Amino acid sequence: MPEPQAAILARRDVIVAGLRALLPDACVIADETGRRAYECDAVSAYRQLPLAVVLPRNTAEVSAVLRYCHEEGVPVVPRGAGTSLSGGALPVADGIILGLGKLNKILDIDFANRAVVAQPGVTNLGITNAVQHAGFYYAPDPSSQIACTIGGNVAENSGGVHCLKYGLTTNNILGVELVQMDGTVLRFGGKALEAGGYDWLGLLTGSEGLLGVVTEVTVRILRKPATARALLLGFPSSEQGGDCVGKIIAAGIIPGGMEMMDRPAIHATEAFVNVGYPLDVEALLIVELDGPPVEVDYLIERVSAIADSCSAVTKRISVNEAERMAFWAGRKAAFPAAGRISPDYLCMDGTIPRRALSQVLTRMTELSKQYGLGLANVFHAGDGNLHPLILFDANKPGEFEKAEAFGADILRLCVDVGGVLTGEHGVGVEKRELMPCMFSEIDLDQQKRVKEAFDPQGLLNPGKVFPLLHRCAEGGQMHVAGGAIPHPDLPRF
Ligand SMILES: Cc1cc2nc3c(=O)[nH]c(=O)nc-3n(C[C@H](O)[C@H](O)[C@H](O)COP(=O)(O)OP(=O)(O)OC[C@H]3O[C@@H](n4cnc5c(N)ncnc54)[C@H](O)[C@@H]3O)c2cc1C
Repeated sequence: MPEPQAAILARRDVIVAGLRALLPDACVIADETGRRAYECDAVSAYRQLPLAVVLPRNTAEVSAVLRYCHEEGVPVVPRGAGTSLSGGALPVADGIILGLGKLNKILDIDFANRAVVAQPGVTNLGITNAVQHAGFYYAPDPSSQIACTIGGNVAENSGGVHCLKYGLTTNNILGVELVQMDGTVLRFGGKALEAGGYDWLGLLTGSEGLLGVVTEVTVRILRKPATARALLLGFPSSEQGGDCVGKIIAAGIIPGGMEMMDRPAIHATEAFVNVGYPLDVEALLIVELDGPPVEVDYLIERVSAIADSCSAVTKRISVNEAERMAFWAGRKAAFPAAGRISPDYLCMDGTIPRRALSQVLTRMTELSKQYGLGLANVFHAGDGNLHPLILFDANKPGEFEKAEAFGADILRLCVDVGGVLTGEHGVGVEKRELMPCMFSEIDLDQQKRVKEAFDPQGLLNPGKVFPLLHRCAEGGQMHVAGGAIPHPDLPRF
């Protein structure tokens, strides 16, 4: 992380007093025990005590805190529920954590416009819970949906099982209220389907807390599909499973969800949930079709025929809601299940073109042997979003570093086959140093200019997303794109 500024650390008491002048005492946490609760997000391998934790209750308080920090030059790390899997909400020693958990109200439910206006601390599932009595729901469904916040979802452009058909967060939000680092409150979009000017929502969604603090979100809600049924398909090889995925999409069918697991993941999840997953297959595919019953029945037949043509050796079709939920139970519990087969694991997140699936799976198996670390694969097969779980034991010296290097190789592989570094978990700290694998110096400079337009002093979520120069020097590495040494004006070490 960037070197903390000694001048800020020395003025900690003054800064805390300044924050307490803006908010009630209970909204400013300065003692060590209280701050400890915020020292990491879901990437608990990286930890850092923040200078203080501030918990505003409304947009006006967020604006006042940001204005104060702007004037004092204090960095700010926004935080929702802290479930980030890329270290996005990792604190900095000389900065505050701005927790949005107290902004947790649904402000408006508008069925006529199919929209819900929510404060950023409302959980993802909280939105569906608020509208399901009328047959509506919010489609993007990260597996963390009982905990993660809609503000965090916007910042990470989060996805989930149903995003293949219904889109990611960016396809399901209509408006955002954003507070800039200098305290200015801006509004983008609204309940209308089209807004003039630049596509600000597209820019802000996935900006990982670097451009502003989201204080209100207007989301699109959808009518719940009349029915949903799922197929559980087992294949003798991942290639055949991958082939089936490609053929389903090529046939013009967009399933509500299409998820795959490899043998280690199947065994780990079956031992965890006992739902009858086949243990003699190399790849398990869950395909869900949703819509009017007649359409679903027709599509089930078509997918079933495609599975046969790909030599599926297991084929079960859900006959009721309980069975459909049972098919999903293992996949939804894949992360905790992995905790039973390994003391620690790193969950990676990269995206590849679907056609490269078997090539990437084969190479990952080779890498697993090369590093001597186990691997279990669960992935959003329909959209090519991989979640390899690298199994390791942090108590064994050097294993964490080995797991990190293995993970970096997997992400480079994703880029090499024409994919991208991240599918839905963001760049954060985890993938920061890999950004030059994907973006040229010119690309990165353009991205930094956008950041500077919103936050010229670089106070919002520093140390995230953009590679740090000194890390390249420490690692003895530097990415030279097209023969041009980056930042030639800077002294070399
Ligand atoms: C078990 C588990 C399963 C998961 N499954 C999925 C999945 O299926 N799909 C998926 O996409 N992700 C998944 N995640 C990752 C994570 O839940 C998402 O990235 C989620 O959107 C983070 O939300 P949060 O409220 O916890 O944000 P945090 O972790 O608190 O923050 C994440 C980032 O957003 C920024 N941020 C947070 N709130 C705001 C705000 N109001 N304004 C500006 N910036 C903000 C933070 O600075 C940080 O950079 C999973 C995580 C876990 C632990």
